[in-house]
Amino acid sequence: MSRESLEARAEKTLRDTDAYRVPVAIEAVARRLNLTMEAAALGENVSGMLVVKGGRGAIGYNSAHARVRQRFTISHEIAHYLLHAKKSEKAQLFIDRHVAFRRDEKSSTGVDHDEVEANQFGAALLMPRGLVQQEIQRHDLNLDDEEAISLLAKRFHVSTAAMSNRLANLRMLR
Ligand SMILES: [Zn+2]
Repeated sequence: MSRESLEARAEKTLRDTDAYRVPVAIEAVARRLNLTMEAAALGENVSGMLVVKGGRGAIGYNSAHARVRQRFTISHEIAHYLLHAKKSEKAQLFIDRHVAFRRDEKSSTGVDHDEVEANQFGAALLMPRGLVQQEIQRHDLNLDDEEAISLLAKRFHVSTAAMSNRLANLRMLR
């Protein structure tokens, strides 16, 4: 999916689920897509998983992870559900060993295309381009300043690393 259509589809998903506002209520988005969610002891190396059967989905996320990371995981699993799950009666399972933030989507050799796409779409759901721009303007933020990025991350309930990567992917950092 092109960058533009990914951004547009993420925004449409948020508008359709009445969640296009800061911070994005990612669990409400999942519920409105008829996805169930459950925190579970998944062990150190698994961030989350998604089971899909007959168009219905269930998300499991790591109960030991920080809240901002759980939000990113849920968003990533929503992306798999919308972009990669097939509408078949056969059960499909997506397991995420760790959800990485990648600055450059093309240089990450050996990384599954769907994983890169789920990370990008997940980031676009949690940090929609239009709302990021709106918050930068509203608070008159200078992105050369680390504290501005940290403030922006807090506004969107994401980690500073996730926000930093998102801004880089949106070519909003110098
Ligand atoms: Zn994944």
